[in-house]
Amino acid sequence: MQYRVEGIVIRSMDYGEGGKIITILTPTHGKAAILVRGAKKAKSRHGSLTQLFTHGEYLYYRNSGLGTLTHGEIIESHHVLREGLELTAYAAYAVELTDRTTNEDEASGYLFMQLLACLRALAEGKDGPTILQLYEMKILEVSGYGPIFDECVSCGNTEGQMALSARSGGVLCSRCRYKDSSALVLGDSVLKLLRLFRRMDLTRLGNIQVKDETKVQLKQAMRLLVDTHINIPLKSRAFLDQLDKYPL
Ligand SMILES: [Zn+2]
Repeated sequence: MQYRVEGIVIRSMDYGEGGKIITILTPTHGKAAILVRGAKKAKSRHGSLTQLFTHGEYLYYRNSGLGTLTHGEIIESHHVLREGLELTAYAAYAVELTDRTTNEDEASGYLFMQLLACLRALAEGKDGPTILQLYEMKILEVSGYGPIFDECVSCGNTEGQMALSARSGGVLCSRCRYKDSSALVLGDSVLKLLRLFRRMDLTRLGNIQVKDETKVQLKQAMRLLVDTHINIPLKSRAFLDQLDKYPL
């Protein structure tokens, strides 16, 4: 069967003599794995379509399993994302996280648009860590783990200091905090930002500024959520952590 889909390359690996197998995220057909013959040859028309982060239109046929590319057109190459070490590391995390948390035939137009907006924001030079945290929140939502920040998940209280309990699925008020000894007490500015992240659609992202002192706790909070609900070791995250320790 022949398919014509829009897609973003979220994985690309060498295959056989000069070929590549790419995984694209599509808005309509979930994830698709496609073999691109001769992609690594200098004269290949399809080489640029196989690069990580490329947004394009892909024509392929597939009976079962792997598809085979017949034609494609680039919509946005996102080449900026492959040029700087740090930018590449951010974008690589976004696509690896997407790849590891989505299933083959589970299509989500919403997730596709969020990933596209995430890559565009990174390419425009918006703050990488903040963009990735926002995207992590969207991944949590799509995976069914969208946390509740507006009220205590245990008693519904909306007043006073809140602590994040990832395993309870949101925040606990001071009266209920004893229910999770690992809950992370949140400062007001972090709680506000988490609420904003929860509501925000990445496609409508304007300029977002996060103070340095807020960033530290925001990172702790998002890490707690991702580690509790996703908990998949990602190569790209290990690399990002190294960059954090030894900034360029
Ligand atoms: Zn409570």
